[in-house]
Amino acid sequence: MTHDDRAKPVALVTGANKGIGLQIARDLAAHGFTVLVGSRSLQDGETAAKSLGVNARAIKLDVTDQASVTAAAERIRKELGRLDVLVNNAGISHAGKSGRSLQEIAQAGRMSVVSLDDVRALFETNVFGVIAVTQAMLPLLREAPAGRIVNVSSTGGSLTWNSDPANPHRKMFGTYSASKTALNAITLAFAADLESTRIKVNAACPGFTATDLNNFQGTRTVQEAAREPVRLALLGPDGPTGTFSDENGPVAW
Ligand code: NAP
Repeated sequence: MTHDDRAKPVALVTGANKGIGLQIARDLAAHGFTVLVGSRSLQDGETAAKSLGVNARAIKLDVTDQASVTAAAERIRKELGRLDVLVNNAGISHAGKSGRSLQEIAQAGRMSVVSLDDVRALFETNVFGVIAVTQAMLPLLREAPAGRIVNVSSTGGSLTWNSDPANPHRKMFGTYSASKTALNAITLAFAADLESTRIKVNAACPGFTATDLNNFQGTRTVQEAAREPVRLALLGPDGPTGTFSDENGPVAW
């Protein structure tokens, strides 16, 4: 490591070995960050980091494994000595086998039929994982001149939108969406708790994007999807905290 490495701001993106997380990592590297490509498979993380060039390095991180989370925080302190941006991007849409269509995922996640084991698995990654990673990284973020936390959420988790019977998408409001509602709640809880610090905590919806999460049925590109999370990661000192937005502006909670 050179002196320059320590001078550069550092970003950690969870679940950055593919999909929207990989693009967020790419964009932050282009903005001059040293980017830590979080991946539960170190090999996948290393392949992804290599594709991003010299500003990226892989870090093994399974957000549901406390030992892995603690080890990642220790490694960041030891190797880079700082963390300026945390993007909690890792997420799952179902706990079953891969390759299922969006319709199958939505059916399996309906609240009247979903198994509690599946509910627990989704909340373990999408909600408790975010709390675990954020708590572990907070000591580093507190020391940063401008710590930024971005939680990658979904408009599908908006209670305001989904309580409206006129919303045609509310049929999809199941386990995954409820986990994103919970993620929104913990975003607000962290923001309120950290209000007196320099840290800003916001939730971003990337929009309906073609990735493994929905069997590539999404209609947006990962480049489009990364824009709002990256904007929030780069907020200046006058930027907001405790907000929920997508590329079109604020989203109703
Ligand atoms: P994706 O391509 O399936 O990527 C998900 C990423 O999360 C992968 O890198 C995956 O790693 C990782 N991950 C899953 N469980 C993990 C764990 N326990 N620990 C660490 N990493 C884990 O899906 P995506 O669409 O890019 O999703 C990224 C985020 O955007 C998610 O939070 C998702 O809910 C949100 N989002 C997506 C859409 C959309 O339309 N795609 C819309 C709204 C919100 P593996 O490769 O090891 O599985």
